[in-house]
Amino acid sequence: MHQKPDADAMGSSLGLYHFLTQLGHNVTVISPTNWASFLNWMPDCKKVLDYEAVEPKANAAIDAADWIFCLDFNVLSRTKRMEEKLAQAKGVRILIDHHREPQVEVFAYGNSDTGKSSTAEMVYDFIKATGFDDMINEAVAECLYAGAMTDTGSFRFPSTTASVHKMIADLKERGLQHSRVHEELFDNFLENRFRFIGHVLLNRMEVFYEYNTALIAIPQADLIKFNVRTGDTEGLVNYPLSIQGIKLAAIIIDRGEERKSSFRSKGGFDVNTFARKYFNGGGHFNAAGGFSKEPLDEVIVKFKAAMKENADQLSSYKF
Ligand code: 5GP
Ligand code: MN
Repeated sequence: MHQKPDADAMGSSLGLYHFLTQLGHNVTVISPTNWASFLNWMPDCKKVLDYEAVEPKANAAIDAADWIFCLDFNVLSRTKRMEEKLAQAKGVRILIDHHREPQVEVFAYGNSDTGKSSTAEMVYDFIKATGFDDMINEAVAECLYAGAMTDTGSFRFPSTTASVHKMIADLKERGLQHSRVHEELFDNFLENRFRFIGHVLLNRMEVFYEYNTALIAIPQADLIKFNVRTGDTEGLVNYPLSIQGIKLAAIIIDRGEERKSSFRSKGGFDVNTFARKYFNGGGHFNAAGGFSKEPLDEVIVKFKAAMKENADQLSSYKF
């Protein structure tokens, strides 16, 4: 899965894990980095190896692997320090992913489909195609539901096809307790996270109505002051999109080693291209991210310049 996994990266990986182990395979799930604590409820999440914490053990698993499933990312650089190890691995690399522009040459097999809501949906399709769908038990169902539900913004983004709803209906028939998943993911935060969100929306958000754009820029001192943990900033970028007229929302967070950015758009503005062009990143048409090595002030200046460069598209947006 990709670094700092979200619920789709973790859910698709653990969903596949719970399927493959039932078939007698010896499976190790590896995350390139740590992850948000709101994912810890997922069945067997405690068994996932954090590459940065247990590198030798994870390397041994990669060396021993016949098959390496790469889930919810499509360029090896999204695995940070694991990149080199993955590139050299003897095991067959298989891609299952829904992002744009895959690094095709590094995968032996794969399914790369930007029309899919989530990697979790693709793992579901994969399991169905094997004919062993009776192995979709509660654990598989919960993991895959978490991935599909979060990547579709709780079934509201245009990627929410009829197939997604059919999949959820099938998971429900197999015992899925969907309310539990929502509570685990959304009702499990500490007070400091809400205080932090309040502070950020009040003091760190700029709205550029001329460009139908909003930017949130967070200095590292805020993260320290509010004791912000991995995952606490997840979803923050979506808030400005609820402001009338806003078509592009951006967040830039100073994480110390780099300035991490996230972009979200509504309608016809392509943030995948935007993230690639200005922020060393990529992703989907309406949700993408990237990073910069320059100081936060410079990244903010760069963002504003990029916004102005795209003024034609951003300003002419019709609702
Ligand atoms: P988020 O903003 O939630 O971190 O990511 C939004 C989407 O863009 C996700 O699908 C994620 O995989 C992708 N993404 C985020 N950051 C990067 C990046 O630095 N490089 C690439 N290629 N994709 C990214
Ligand atoms: Mn995904």
